[in-house]
Amino acid sequence: MEGTIAQRKVRGRKDIFCDPSTMAEHGGHNGEVFSVVFNKMPFAPGHSLIATVRHTNGLLDLTPHEAAELLSTLRKVLPYVLNKYNGGDPAYDIKIRSGDASGWTISHFHVHVIPRHRAANSGPHPYELIYEPWLDTPDRPVVAGDLRTHTKGLRRGAELNGDGKHALNGFADRRPAPIPSFLYPNVFFESQHFIALHHPEAVLPGQTLLVPKSGVRDFLALNDAELADLMLAYPKVMKRLLREYSEGSRAYITSFQTGGYSHAPLEAFHINLIPRKEGDRYAENHDQMYADIYERNGRHVDMLGREEIRRAVSELRRPE
Ligand SMILES: [Zn+2]
Repeated sequence: MEGTIAQRKVRGRKDIFCDPSTMAEHGGHNGEVFSVVFNKMPFAPGHSLIATVRHTNGLLDLTPHEAAELLSTLRKVLPYVLNKYNGGDPAYDIKIRSGDASGWTISHFHVHVIPRHRAANSGPHPYELIYEPWLDTPDRPVVAGDLRTHTKGLRRGAELNGDGKHALNGFADRRPAPIPSFLYPNVFFESQHFIALHHPEAVLPGQTLLVPKSGVRDFLALNDAELADLMLAYPKVMKRLLREYSEGSRAYITSFQTGGYSHAPLEAFHINLIPRKEGDRYAENHDQMYADIYERNGRHVDMLGREEIRRAVSELRRPE
């Protein structure tokens, strides 16, 4: 990206990621490709955003260089945030919206990094409890202080010095979880290190899980070969889903979470890929989708029928 922040501001609509004063206030780290900031309305202590410095429409619009930078930045920021704000517990949500119909509001591609707190997860509706905007709680002064005090830490984490590397090692356990055989019939794509399968309890047509064949349980445990393959497999699968299901909206959700309380059919690491379109069932309440895919807590969720999924899988297996 050429040009100073001030020059970039002139070119596009001014927003938090274009405005240097806001960036400073929120503990911003301005890298060349990505900025890392604390979220203004955090859902949990340490809730951070990794955003492109340039204006971008979504994950698929990143250049290969930017995509590689994103993976590497995430692997630095995540251990830092988990160590600093989550007691080293590798429990977190990663959420990415792309395109207008996905409910995103800022024209810089950005990733939400949200630590999850197991203690807060004991109530009957953990999703609602945890996703109260954290700034409105009595703990607020702590995080307000953190925004200033720990700016340097976030920056250091993002730059990955020796400390960052040490922190990542703690999360990189490669002990696998088996991929259950009942999922095999839903597989429609295979790359060197990943398979893509239609979610057996999908909330929207085309909801897909991208799973490493190694069965490792955490994003931070993926090795270099898997990360390189992920950069090829992800756009192939997502573009296929968009062609099939998004009706030209180019809107989609990418998310993953770890921590063991997810409503998911497998324990291995998996990325949710969800094509969106105008007026789909979550158009009025985008966040409800996360509750439905991850944390049903006994609530009835209207899912796709078995026959509908079988049809979707055979469509997705068809060569184009
Ligand atoms: Zn901007």
